[in-house]
Amino acid sequence: MTSLQDELHAVARELRERILHEADWGLAGHERSPEAQRTAPSQVFVRALQPAPPAPPAPPVRPTAPVAPVPVAQPPAPPASEVVTAIHPAIVESIPIAELVAPLPTIQRAPSLRPAPDLSIFGNLPSGSPGLQHIQTVLGECQRCDLHAERTQLVFGRGNPEADVVFIGEAPGEEEDLEGRPFVGPAGQLLERMIQAMGLQPDQTYITNVVKCRTPNGREPEIEERLKCRPFLVGQVQATHPRVIVTLGRIATQTVLETDGRISQLRGRWHSHPHHDSQVMPTYHPTAILRNPQLRRPVWEDLKRVVQALGLHTNT
Ligand code: SF4
Repeated sequence: MTSLQDELHAVARELRERILHEADWGLAGHERSPEAQRTAPSQVFVRALQPAPPAPPAPPVRPTAPVAPVPVAQPPAPPASEVVTAIHPAIVESIPIAELVAPLPTIQRAPSLRPAPDLSIFGNLPSGSPGLQHIQTVLGECQRCDLHAERTQLVFGRGNPEADVVFIGEAPGEEEDLEGRPFVGPAGQLLERMIQAMGLQPDQTYITNVVKCRTPNGREPEIEERLKCRPFLVGQVQATHPRVIVTLGRIATQTVLETDGRISQLRGRWHSHPHHDSQVMPTYHPTAILRNPQLRRPVWEDLKRVVQALGLHTNT
């Protein structure tokens, strides 16, 4: 009996946390908490990360006789990810991202994802909107993998064709499949808030998925399906030519980086894109944050690295 009560209490606690989280983010179906109503969503998102208030000014020091300088041991050099924070935004704009973020050595590629995508199907791919239109023309009513049988329509991508930041998710869900646009459900609403918290407007980004067709019952797309669809994803990256790519979740991260590494080890660190000179920052998928609100903090830490590398100012 006691263990049943414990279980019920645990379920109630989890449910309460979930409702509070969704209310904080203004997600449909819940009233926002009093705290969230007083603050912008992004402030709620980062409230645990607010810096401590500045210390009171030190009392004036009486001048003393000059003394010979004593050599002081230099602290060890900070890691590359920390160096970025010390660079003024105006300078950041003029330096290629690759020189700022100092990506780690190339990660181990997964044999199953090793075959290079065949980009010759696009010929000379123009950049920006004409490039994306050309890819859609080549894609046509694609039946290259079995996922075509499940879809209502292809979900190609949305946003600015010349965005500095591209977000890549896993696969369209039911709502995306019906609307023909990626990230339109609760996870999409959360992604929009994350983007706004970064100081970006949604139309300053481009959003797409690894595969363009929904999967049966929302299962993960299989390797063969991802490989079949990968030329179109790489084509989208080449056409939009972003400075930074944010991969959302394990499947997107593994597919883009062509590795079978774990998301918990890949996230929060810069990686080189295998087929483009943009830099990749993996983080958790918004759906995972909805399931586990404790992921908000590590996700925000990952996004702050993107903000710093792009010289943006957060809406906090
Ligand atoms: S998932 Fe990609 S490769 Fe498969 S049918 Fe859809 S568009 Fe074609």
